[in-house]
Amino acid sequence: MSEKEYSGIAASPGVAIGKVFLLDSEEDVILKRRILSRDIPHEITRFEAALIAARREILDIQKKIAKVMGGEHAEIFNAHLLVLEDRALIEEVIKKLEKQKLNVEYIFIQVSKKYSRIFARMEDDYLKERASDIRDVSRRVLHKLIGKKKQDLANLADEVIIAAYDLSPSDTALMHKERVIGFITDIGGKTSHTAIMARSLGIPAVVGLHDVSSKIRPDVTLIVDGNRGVVILNPSKTTLKRYADEQTKFEIFEEKLAGLKNLPAETKDGCRVSLAANIELPEDVPSVIAHGADGIGLYRTEFLYMNRTDLPTEEEQLKSYRHVVEKIAPQSVIIRTLDLGGDKFLSHLQFPREMNPFLGWRAIRFCLERLDVFKVQLRAILRASAHGNVKMMYPMISGVQEIRKANAVVEEVKKELRAEKKKFDDNMEIGAMIEIPSAATTADILAKEADFFSIGTNDLIQYSLAIDRVNEKVAYLYEPMHPAIIRLVKFVIDAAHKEGLWVGMCGEMAGDPVSALILIGLGLNELSTSSVMVPEIKKVIRSVTLKEAQDLVVRVSQLTTADEIRHETMKLLKKAAPELAALE
Ligand code: PEP
Ligand code: MG
Repeated sequence: MSEKEYSGIAASPGVAIGKVFLLDSEEDVILKRRILSRDIPHEITRFEAALIAARREILDIQKKIAKVMGGEHAEIFNAHLLVLEDRALIEEVIKKLEKQKLNVEYIFIQVSKKYSRIFARMEDDYLKERASDIRDVSRRVLHKLIGKKKQDLANLADEVIIAAYDLSPSDTALMHKERVIGFITDIGGKTSHTAIMARSLGIPAVVGLHDVSSKIRPDVTLIVDGNRGVVILNPSKTTLKRYADEQTKFEIFEEKLAGLKNLPAETKDGCRVSLAANIELPEDVPSVIAHGADGIGLYRTEFLYMNRTDLPTEEEQLKSYRHVVEKIAPQSVIIRTLDLGGDKFLSHLQFPREMNPFLGWRAIRFCLERLDVFKVQLRAILRASAHGNVKMMYPMISGVQEIRKANAVVEEVKKELRAEKKKFDDNMEIGAMIEIPSAATTADILAKEADFFSIGTNDLIQYSLAIDRVNEKVAYLYEPMHPAIIRLVKFVIDAAHKEGLWVGMCGEMAGDPVSALILIGLGLNELSTSSVMVPEIKKVIRSVTLKEAQDLVVRVSQLTTADEIRHETMKLLKKAAPELAALE
């Protein structure tokens, strides 16, 4: 097979060369795979097990619904149970499996699609409705079939590059970190949580490759170029040699940057900026320390809640937070309260399906409604604050009332802890994330109720420019250098400083060497990014004077397009740190 190159979005830097591990993750991209005759009984067993597991799950849901909403609502699921027992459908799957010798996921989807099409065409409204029951149940069975494959991600025997239509953040959290040397996905953008996790783990990744996963056969050799956002299938000897050379060059460059580890993040004229790192899991802490970051500017706690069937208890959470807090001490950790929703879901919490999950019931909105869940986390965070330097912040604040409500819950929880004689830091700083345009434009009001701000540009950009951050089709419009974003960031920083607050940024913009120059000039106090980006950003900070960065801000404020702003900023980067500019 000849060499083929595909372009996508560079999601995580570095180069990986290896064999591919194909992951079926969506109904539409279930690949057709030949199986051997001797594998047929195994495929049938898998199918039967999936039917049983799906049945158990439906019975479970039925029980819960009957308890909360009453018996007649639970009866809706009887139709689903009937689909699972439909002999005609089951026998057709088994017959086709034996005849066609293809993987059971593929056959099952073909058969269930045929059935739902037949029902959808029926005149009778009742029977027509059954089409959606079949689709629902099929999805459940399919998840059971694939679910096992996802578990396989945790037990890989060899080093692999994962290729998938999509990888959810929870799949990524589950991966065997030493064996997965790279991954590529058809969908997704640079600030999707899957891409963010790849950077935290230091795994080269390319996302937004459209339909590449359907063009790849299992076990082919692949190059993932996470620096340029390119994937090469069946590379020739010459290409392999070129990449091996590039890999060596990249390693030398990284070694050079590693020399900055113990030096402060300060400009040439001595202006100190805090340069922190973001983490998703307690296991990420060694990387924060190894890359010389000034503490943790964002701890995304939602991953503690994923890949499990219950909620983490207060003691479990305390253990994880305490581990992070003690490992990073005396530096500080900003623990963010639960930010579920958007592209991060928990199946067992039965989140409703929403048309626009990023605009829906997520983050602080969820917590202020599910006080039972919120309070447990607040107790754990407060108790962890007794063991080191802890700050806390709320995600997705849209207005001052949410801060007030959340702070009132914190006060209640503090009272409880005092009564129980449990220790906590009564002066723990509580900040608000500024990631919704309404929060940015009322930063002067919010500043009176918060101890600090952390600008979440991943969401702020998506909401301000109306660009879905995980949709590769509009990724070209996702632009941190848009004058609107720079104006918003400036307004937030100025409003905070007027009230005596410090301001950080924990969105991915803070990890972009070009944007960093503008952020320094705007007077941002802390930049927090993936650990792997810390050395590059430190190099940028140490390469300019504050005056140069401030003059740059004056110049870019006169410009009208993102391209002009980027060009102007690149001129300064080329002058100050040419080796970094060459990577852009
Ligand atoms: C952000 O939105 O910029 C942010 C840091 O939060 P998250 O990426 O987890 O949404
Ligand atoms: Mg966010």
